[in-house]
This record gives sequence, C-alpha cells and structure tokens, in this order.
Amino acid sequence: MSEKINNPKSLRRNNKTNIAFKLLTKGEMSRLRLSEELGLTQASITQVVQELIEEDIVREVCAIQRNNTGRREILLRYNDEAYAAVGVNIESDNTHISVCTYRTVLEEKIIPTANLKLNGGDIALLAKEIAAMRERHCKETHILGTGVGIAGITDEQKGISRDSYGLLPLCFPLCEKLSEMLNEEVFVLNNIRAQARALITDRKDHFMFVKHAPGLGSALVTDGKLQEGADNRAGELGHTVAEPDGELCHCGRRGCLETIVSEKHITEVCARHLGRTLPAAEIYSMSRTDSYIGRFMETCIEKLAVAVVNAATLINPGRVLLTGGIFFNDFLRELFIKKAHEYAGCTVIPFELIENSRRIKAFSGSRHVLLKKLFEV
Ligand SMILES: [Zn+2]
Repeated sequence: MSEKINNPKSLRRNNKTNIAFKLLTKGEMSRLRLSEELGLTQASITQVVQELIEEDIVREVCAIQRNNTGRREILLRYNDEAYAAVGVNIESDNTHISVCTYRTVLEEKIIPTANLKLNGGDIALLAKEIAAMRERHCKETHILGTGVGIAGITDEQKGISRDSYGLLPLCFPLCEKLSEMLNEEVFVLNNIRAQARALITDRKDHFMFVKHAPGLGSALVTDGKLQEGADNRAGELGHTVAEPDGELCHCGRRGCLETIVSEKHITEVCARHLGRTLPAAEIYSMSRTDSYIGRFMETCIEKLAVAVVNAATLINPGRVLLTGGIFFNDFLRELFIKKAHEYAGCTVIPFELIENSRRIKAFSGSRHVLLKKLFEV
C-alpha cells in the first residue's frame, strides 16, 4: 500500500482492513497464513482478528491439519451473512435496486427508470421502492445503508448529482434528500465508478474498466482505490475528443468518443441504413453479413481501440476490464482486441471480459457501502 500510516491508531485500522479484505477476497485462512501473507506478527494478527470476531465480521470455522508441521489451526472466514446494504444503479433505461451482502444478491428488482419519474426532482417513488426492499431483509441481516450509482457527473463528497444528463435536475442533492426520506445513511457516486469499485479484488488492484452501453463509461482503479481526479471526472474516456468537428455531445463538447461509438449512435446510424430500428445485439450479429454494417462497426472499433490504447499508455493499468455492448459480441470483441494489440505495438495490455453486467449493477452500490463502512476503503 502506498498510503502513509502516521500513528498507532491508523496502523491498527489499516491492519484490520487488510485482514478483513484478505479474508473477503481470498477465502478462508488461518492466523498463521494471514501473518505470512500480510507480513504482520502473529500477536498483531491475534489481536485484530479478535476485534473482527467481536464485530461479527469474521468467524472461526473449523480446525485444519497443516501438512508441513502437523499443527492444527483454526480457519477464519469472512462472515458474509452478517452485513448487507441496499444498492441502487440509475441509468437512462433501467434502475436496479438490490439488497446484497458482499457476495450474495438477496433480492434484486429492475424498474424502467422512466417509471420512477425522477426528472422533476421527485424521488418519492424511488425512496418507497428502497424502503420496501430494505424492510424485507432488515430482520435477517444488518443493513448498513444505501449506495446509489447514477449516470453522469457526481460530487461524491457532497452527495450531489451534478449533471445526470436529464435523469435528475442539475445539482440535485440526492444524498441529503434520500437520507431524509429513508432515515439512514446514503452514499452517491457515478454508476460506472460504483461498478468498477464492485470489481476490486485486491487492495493493490490496478485496472481500467470500460463499459460499452447506450453511452461509453470508464473508471480507473489504482492501489485498490477509485481515481477521482480534481473534480470527480477521472476516467471519462467517453468524453475524450475523437473528432474535433464531430457531433455535439450532451457534455457540451464536439466529437466526443461517445458520440461516435456508443450503442445509441450505432443503432441510430444502422436504423437509417436498414430503414428500421433493430436491437443493438442484432446489429452486432450482422457485422459479418451486411457489408455496410461491417465497415461501420470496424470504424467504430478502430476509434474505440485507439482511445483505450492511448488511455492505457497514460495510466499503465494491470488489466483492462471490458463489459457490455460490442464486447459481448465475440466477433467484435476479438476484432477490438486485435486492433488494440496492433496499436499497442510491443506493449502488452491484458484484456478481460466481465460477462455478467447485471450482477455488477446489483452489487455496485451495496459494495460501495460495505467497503466504506466495514473496511474503510
Ligand atoms: Zn462528451
């Protein structure tokens, strides 16, 4: 970890977080194994583990026989059932509301965002849905709060949705209003950033997350932490300029990458060519049978590959995680990776496909709350 530990209290908190997160992400371990993995003394491990057991974050599960010494040791396990949070993911088409422990979706509901009538600033219907779901699970687990991921620019410190591109009014104090209605702690952050946070598997994780969808989202994680930037805008790959004289983007710039490669743009262009509107997945599958669509998609993928390789060159991520839209089509994903490797030259960029985007949406807001409240990360 690169963060500075200045005093015994913060050192102890950091050790506690490291132990809990190690058990959470790597599975069951003995105290001795934790000591070896984290480079901490067994006395420190014993003391901190005792605190975690008292808080019911960790439980002792069974005795194991170690092969090398023959000593019996107790395995420790992250107690997944003890704590949960409500997660909300608000995007232009659908809003996902869920109650999740760190590893398990206890309940999930998908509602067309238009049905929630948020754009006038009335969040009563959303609050009602959250409260009802919370009520159904609060007896079986301890619910620590609600995490809301919403498209657009957010101020995470103030809990404000600054510009959600029409989903909510500008500069909407979502955290404050929702907290009042629910009478519980609420956290607000950009939806793509929340989803990237849900994908962190190690406190030293280092990756770029790229999501192709109606828009084009991206987020950066370094040393296991989301990069925020000076103004909460780090990682806005979709709003890097790809054609200086291109179409006007909803962000106010011209020729943003999103105006060229987003699913929304692709379906509009192909609808003009075909004379009818088809679902994006059908358009993607026509890339090899319709020469116009094939050429058009190749152009989109070239632009996207250039942008991703340029971003990866700047930030040097350990992995690039891809999800949604064109990345779910095998032919187009392979074409994208082939182009990206061509442009990257001798630099190796490891790409990974995240196949279950629905599961990430369900976990995103809730994991944000659990990471903050239980592990202080
Ligand atoms: Zn833009």
